[in-house]
Amino acid sequence: EVLVKMNRLGKVYPNGTVAVRNVNMDIPEGEFICFVGPSGCGKSTVFKMITGLEEATEGEIEIFGKSPANARKENEVAFVFQDHTLLPWRKVKDNVALPLELKGVSKEKRYEEVDRVLELVGLAHTKDMLQRELSGGMKMRVSIARALVTRPKLLLMDEPFGALDEITRQSLQQELLKIWQQDPKMTVLFITHNVFEAVYLSSKLAVMTPGPGKVSSILDIDAGYP
Ligand code: ADP
Ligand code: ADP
Repeated sequence: EVLVKMNRLGKVYPNGTVAVRNVNMDIPEGEFICFVGPSGCGKSTVFKMITGLEEATEGEIEIFGKSPANARKENEVAFVFQDHTLLPWRKVKDNVALPLELKGVSKEKRYEEVDRVLELVGLAHTKDMLQRELSGGMKMRVSIARALVTRPKLLLMDEPFGALDEITRQSLQQELLKIWQQDPKMTVLFITHNVFEAVYLSSKLAVMTPGPGKVSSILDIDAGYP
């Protein structure tokens, strides 16, 4: 099933910058797609259009046949950025519970789901901790848990591990793959500058060429998952 459809999608920012143009891509369900391409080629802009943070100025985009704004409202899309934006005065469990709180989910159900995702990222023991007690890797895990708590079908990650040291990055890569492999319907879109990371993680690789008028292509990577 096609999850995201982009047809001649483009974005010109209000200041006149042509960030992307003519992106044609059908993203099938269940893939782990890494987006690579030189800095400034428009990767983040494409992600912002998928999440509805920026509106497309050209072409069409659909997520499960809906507009990005509607898909986001229904918690079908979640995203994780490099700067994890946890609320410092809230405990880990209350940061992770936030998206459910906004949806009006009952407290009991919220903490059931929080326990589930904290377990998934190996942080069950940090429930009552504050951000200042966490290492960089742990903060990123909390962000991932918070993104997963609404059971989104599509997870977007923009350079999530860019600020982490090599060892921490490798363990997070492995954990993320495990989480993705546990759910055959889950689709992950991942931006990285690190080609080794892209090759290690992706089931498909999306290559964006520099400059406006670019067309992105999806290549299959047989990463040989165990
Ligand atoms: P990438 O993620 O591949 O580095 P971006 O999507 O961040 O690329 O940026 C694509 C182009 O759009 C760049 O030229 C960048 O300077 C420009 N750009 C990004 N955000 C804005 C904005 N809010 N206003 C104007 N130009 C922007
Ligand atoms: P990670 O791989 O998650 O980044 P680290 O190797 O940085 O983990 O940290 C290992 C352990 O040290 C963590 O599980 C945590 O219990 C503890 N730790 C790291 N940083 C802090 C901190 N700032 N305050 C308290 N404990 C910490």
